[in-house]
Amino acid sequence: MAGKVYLVGAGPGDPELLTLKALRVLKTADVVLHDELVGPEILSLVSPTAQVQNVGKRCGRKSATQAEINALLVNYGLLDLQVVRLKGGDPLIFGRGGEEIEALRKANLDVEVIPGVTAALGAAAAAQIPLTHRGLSSSLIFITNHHASASDTGAWPASISPTATVVVYMPGYANAATARQLVAAGLKASTPCAIISQATRPEEKVYVTTIEELRSAPRLPAPTLLIVGEVVRLAEHRSLQEQFSTRSTIEEFLPLAQSESFAQSQGNTENSERPE
Ligand code: SAH
Repeated sequence: MAGKVYLVGAGPGDPELLTLKALRVLKTADVVLHDELVGPEILSLVSPTAQVQNVGKRCGRKSATQAEINALLVNYGLLDLQVVRLKGGDPLIFGRGGEEIEALRKANLDVEVIPGVTAALGAAAAAQIPLTHRGLSSSLIFITNHHASASDTGAWPASISPTATVVVYMPGYANAATARQLVAAGLKASTPCAIISQATRPEEKVYVTTIEELRSAPRLPAPTLLIVGEVVRLAEHRSLQEQFSTRSTIEEFLPLAQSESFAQSQGNTENSERPE
């Protein structure tokens, strides 16, 4: 008899954002194949008898290819094992979950998807940004910047309504190119945006700026998400200076050439502390 494969969303980081159903299958799994983004607190909830394998990639370290992951899932499933494919956020949002489902269906394996809190929702909650808001935003676009470069705008909508909120997954650090793409899609350069780093984790940081100032944004630690739209005006955030406990820590993330404009932008916010 064949086993069953669960595609499970681990949420954006905080283990308390796991669903009860996700927790139940983690506790009974025989095999767990997880992405790099799934943290140790969540992995500690996995059954101690389960075989746990990291199939994610990070900073050039070799990771399994998608084809290899599909094959692993199918092979474990055919062994009559309860297999959990654990992914950051929700498994069906920028997670290649669809390809895994296809491979499992082809092998006639039973699949169940357990949704998770996607990063956009974790990040919006972190900064208390309502993703939709009467009078400000009536639609929501999830987009990835993964392939973005100055010359590659193919994956982006040709036009974005000013009453939409745009959430950019995998925004990377090519902020000037991202800003150009947003303006090319019709957004005003003065549109506010927020970079949310490590949302829902203890190290979470929120940096609020505008499209035109995006180029001077600090390189906050991955994973980061970019939220763009008028609703960002409603964000609750302290200056980055206050969010970092020491000044030396914040300077690690400030590009030297940009520290001056960062200091200015901090000086322009209400509750800022200008670096001496
Ligand atoms: N399936 C995931 C997304 C995978 S793509 C989901 O639904 O959330 C990976 C991207 O998600 C990262 O590059 C980053 O842009 C975003 N991301 C994931 N976790 C995040 C977090 N805790 N804080 C900010 N962004 C996060």
